[in-house]
Amino acid sequence: AASANMKPIQVKLVLLGESAVGKSSIVLRFVNNEYQDNKEPTIGAAFLTQRCKLDDRIIKFEIWDTAGQERFHSLAPMYYRNAQAAVIVYDITKPASLEKAKTWVKELQRQANPNIVIALVGNKIDLANNRSVPYEEAEAYANENGLLFFEASAKTGTNIIEVFTELAKKIPYEQ
Ligand code: GDP
Repeated sequence: AASANMKPIQVKLVLLGESAVGKSSIVLRFVNNEYQDNKEPTIGAAFLTQRCKLDDRIIKFEIWDTAGQERFHSLAPMYYRNAQAAVIVYDITKPASLEKAKTWVKELQRQANPNIVIALVGNKIDLANNRSVPYEEAEAYANENGLLFFEASAKTGTNIIEVFTELAKKIPYEQ
């Protein structure tokens, strides 16, 4: 195919969100199609890459998975400053994690690249029996703020690839 000879389009993507919402697990699912039940927390940040096909182009995601702990917050601008895409994660069983996600949205709207494409992701949808954030509430917030919105599960894989491919579709590429 023609795409095999084409240079991949690089997309810098950053993951943000409260500690333990499942950021590293989402990346592990997307990059390796794996899941681990008791993941060690990320210290500082981790860098991974993954390629995916979008129409006849190859997208190479350069993924910065940041630590959620407050003591690392001051490092975050290093990772989002040049990012073209952001995945802001909360846990559908933890309302406080949605509030934290909203503060990340505000920070990116003020300080990141104005063209950044942001997805809000409610993770752990496999725990829907313990849900305490209604789908409609988070979706309405996402719509008001121009964010893509998904509920997903790193554990089962539900909607994980979709988060990344839908972001890739929205990025304003230079031709
Ligand atoms: P991070 O701190 O945001 O990177 O979160 P981790 O990826 O380290 O995940 C925190 C904990 O939540 C770990 O014990 C994971 O196994 C668990 N976890 C992550 N994603 C899911 C999910 O989709 N469903 C469930 N039930 N647990 C998850």
